[in-house]
Amino acid sequence: MSDVADETTTNTYDGFSHMAMVLTPPSSHDDMGALKIVDPDGDLILRSERSGSIKVCSAALRRASPVFKAMLFGPWKEAKPATGTWVVHIDDSEWPNALDIILPVIHGVPFDPPAVNAQQLSEVLIFADLYDMRQLLRPWITQCLVQHCKRGVEWKIPIYNQLRLLPLLRVAWEHGLADRFSTLLKGAILFGYKKDLEGLRDAGTICPENPHLLEKPAQIREALVTEYLEFYYKECETPCLAFDPPKSLAEMAERRTCHDGKLAVIGESLYPDGPVPKSAKDYTSRICNLDIQMAEVFQSELQVRKGHEACHPTPRFDVFKEALQRKIDCYKVLQPADETLLAERREKWGL
Ligand SMILES: [Zn+2]
Repeated sequence: MSDVADETTTNTYDGFSHMAMVLTPPSSHDDMGALKIVDPDGDLILRSERSGSIKVCSAALRRASPVFKAMLFGPWKEAKPATGTWVVHIDDSEWPNALDIILPVIHGVPFDPPAVNAQQLSEVLIFADLYDMRQLLRPWITQCLVQHCKRGVEWKIPIYNQLRLLPLLRVAWEHGLADRFSTLLKGAILFGYKKDLEGLRDAGTICPENPHLLEKPAQIREALVTEYLEFYYKECETPCLAFDPPKSLAEMAERRTCHDGKLAVIGESLYPDGPVPKSAKDYTSRICNLDIQMAEVFQSELQVRKGHEACHPTPRFDVFKEALQRKIDCYKVLQPADETLLAERREKWGL
C-alpha cells in the first residue's frame, strides 16, 4: 500500500550531519530504504537513485521552482494522488549530489557553504538551470563560490584530470571568472594527459555559448608536443660540430664517437619505456613530463668531450623553450565576445 509504511529507518536532516553522507554517497540499494527528512511535516517523498527517499514540503518546492510547480500541481502523474503517500521519482543520475544540497537550502535549513566542493557546486548549477531556480539560489551559490575561491584549494592544485577540471571550468564559466577559466585551460594543456584534453572536446555543455572553446586545447597540446618531438629528432640528427671540417682520420673518429655517445644517452634516457613517439598523436602523457625528461637528458645526463661544447644541446634547448613559452603566453583562450559575456556574468553574480 503505502511506500512509506515500509520505511523503518528515518534520518533527521540537518546541514552538518548530512555532509558525511554527501561526501560518501550511498552506493548500494539498501540505502534507498532510509528515509531522510528535510521537513518533518512534509507531505511529499522525493525518490531518486542516488539520494534515496527524502521527505519534503511540496509547497516549498512549488515556491522555489516553476518547474516543480508545474510538475507537482499540474495534470501529470506526479500530482498528489487522491489516496496514499505522495511519491515522486526523480532521475538524479546527472547530478547525484544536488538534491542533498538544494533541498535543505530551499527549506531554510542551515547549510555550510564552504564544505561544498566544485563538483557539487557544478551539479547545483545544472540543477538550478533545469528547475529554473537560478534567481533563488544565486545568493547561496555566490556565497559558496566566494568561500570556495577564498580557500583556493581546488583552484591552486594543478590536477588537470577531467574529473577535477570539468566542474571547475563550469563554475568559472558560469560566474564569469575569466582569469580562472583561462588559467585552467592553459594549465590543462601543459599538465593534462592526452585523454583529458580530448575529453574536453566532448564537454561543450560547460560553455554552451561557445562550445568550440574546448576543442582548441587538444589542438594546441598536439602542436606543442610536435615541436618538442621535432626538436628531439633534429638534435639526434645534428652531427658533431667540433673539427668542422675534420682534418685527419683521428678527428673524424672523434666526431663519430661524440655523435654516437650523444645518441646513446638521449636515445636511451628520454623515453625509457620504448621508442620515442614519431608523432604527437602517439604521445599520451603530459607535456610537463616530456619537458622534464628532455631537460634532464639534455641538461644533466649528457656529457660532451672537451672541445665539443658546441655539440651540447643545452643552449639550443634553452632557446627552444623560451620560444615555446612565448607562444603559450600569447595564446588567448577567450575571444573578445567571451570576455564580454563573462564580464556580464561576473557583474550579475556580484563578484
Ligand atoms: Zn662533438
